[in-house]
Amino acid sequence: MSKPTSPSPRDRTEMFGAREGSDGIIRCDACPVLCRIRPGRSGACGRYANEDERLVRTDALVLMRNARDAGARMVAFAGKDEVWTGEVLTPSSTFITGVGAGTTYPDYKPAPFIVSSTHDGVDTVTVVSEGIFSYCGVKVKIDTDRHLGPETATVRCKGEPVGHVTTAEYGSQMLSLGGVRHLTGGSKKEGNVTCQMMLSLCNKDAVEFEIDDGCRVVVQAGHAPIVDGVPEERMRVGCGSATIGIFARQWHGEVDEVIVVDDHITGVLTEHQAGQCLDMPQAGIRVRGRRSTPGRYFQVAEPGGGWGGTDISDPLTIIKAIDPKIAWPGLRLLLTSTTGQDALYCVLDEDLMPQSAEMPEPVRKVVERIGENCEPSLCSVLFMAGAGGSLRAGVTSNPVRLTRSVAEQISRVTMGGAPVYVYPGGGITVMADVLKMPDQAFGYVPTPALVAPIEFTLPLETYEQTGGHMADVTAMESVLADYGEGARVSDRRVDNPWPLPGDTQNRRREQQ
Ligand code: SF4
Repeated sequence: MSKPTSPSPRDRTEMFGAREGSDGIIRCDACPVLCRIRPGRSGACGRYANEDERLVRTDALVLMRNARDAGARMVAFAGKDEVWTGEVLTPSSTFITGVGAGTTYPDYKPAPFIVSSTHDGVDTVTVVSEGIFSYCGVKVKIDTDRHLGPETATVRCKGEPVGHVTTAEYGSQMLSLGGVRHLTGGSKKEGNVTCQMMLSLCNKDAVEFEIDDGCRVVVQAGHAPIVDGVPEERMRVGCGSATIGIFARQWHGEVDEVIVVDDHITGVLTEHQAGQCLDMPQAGIRVRGRRSTPGRYFQVAEPGGGWGGTDISDPLTIIKAIDPKIAWPGLRLLLTSTTGQDALYCVLDEDLMPQSAEMPEPVRKVVERIGENCEPSLCSVLFMAGAGGSLRAGVTSNPVRLTRSVAEQISRVTMGGAPVYVYPGGGITVMADVLKMPDQAFGYVPTPALVAPIEFTLPLETYEQTGGHMADVTAMESVLADYGEGARVSDRRVDNPWPLPGDTQNRRREQQ
């Protein structure tokens, strides 16, 4: 293995940009827009500026620190992270993230930082860059039963189509937003609105959407969704059938029948397997909809903003019939939603008509327990993107070998130091939870495309074998010396694994 030379990374940064004419204008070549930037001004994306006729990245490089080093003096940075003052940041406990690192365009340039360090005796390289992603999108999970809009309905932002409603998950509605078609395939305005929407969501800001034939919803990562102006509180405990199963024992003896109203699977206790196991007698109350299996009904109503994600505001409307041969006067009936936020207690009168009555305390306690078992309703924002030409070529001169080493889990991919899920199959398609990434980690270019940090960490030996840019490998000590001053320091999140491997060697052995 050849020994890497160690050019100063500062020298490499100065390779970007070209002087144009004698009036100090610099042409930025960090993306295809090729801005001509006057002295003291910044380019169209605000990420690069002409400072004393040098092209500089306007945001600080973000260093991630594994633990608070004793003796380090830190000062506040923009009220959130901190700025390194130069004392103690050891190479072994510092990770260079792609945030503020700069990009590679047009493709053939090595990544801005190719950093070597040693961990657990393994010589390691981390290739650090800000990727320009034309192929990217955002998957949003919204914890609510509420019907936000029909599946496949168009999701709009500022009137422009930016995505669609996709398959609902358990207790959550899902939106698929952004993507190359909205970025490039529609009008210029659609592309720009899509780009700004993704930028805001990924930088953890709130964005308002309007769904065709559905609701207005405000989405912000880590916050409750606001549906038609009302903040959502609870994620359901389960579907109607699951709610029956979970609480059947607690209802037994206190009520004669329970109907849990749910847009997808409405549960009826005495018909349900749970009621059968408890030897509960049939109550003879038939609900509308299509019977799937005993005590489980589909399509009891239309989807909507009412009980359990249906359009029902009066739950008694889902009762289709009450069988006089089976039901009896005095039968105690509870109807509830899957969050317990809506509940009605009734007793059948002499004509077997349900009459609303005060809910007995033991029944109320179970309804309250449904609510207690609901998790807080939150929005989750996952950034999804494919590593394309600039990124892979910035890592190695033989990109397919990088793809293979990622697939074989020899190369570890992170975004801003946060773990990513790598999709199986071809290419390098990754997904990251934006809440695990540093604040303000994303940028954009007006092509339009999103800019996101990405790092590839792999053994130095593998890096050379994959055709890595060995002449551009720089020791971590050198990067810290050249870039530590003024860098933004972000502590590793406790729920994130440390991105620099101690187990790389083990994983490689496992692969052999
Ligand atoms: S948009 Fe930004 S990255 Fe692109 S050329 Fe202009 S300043 Fe450079």
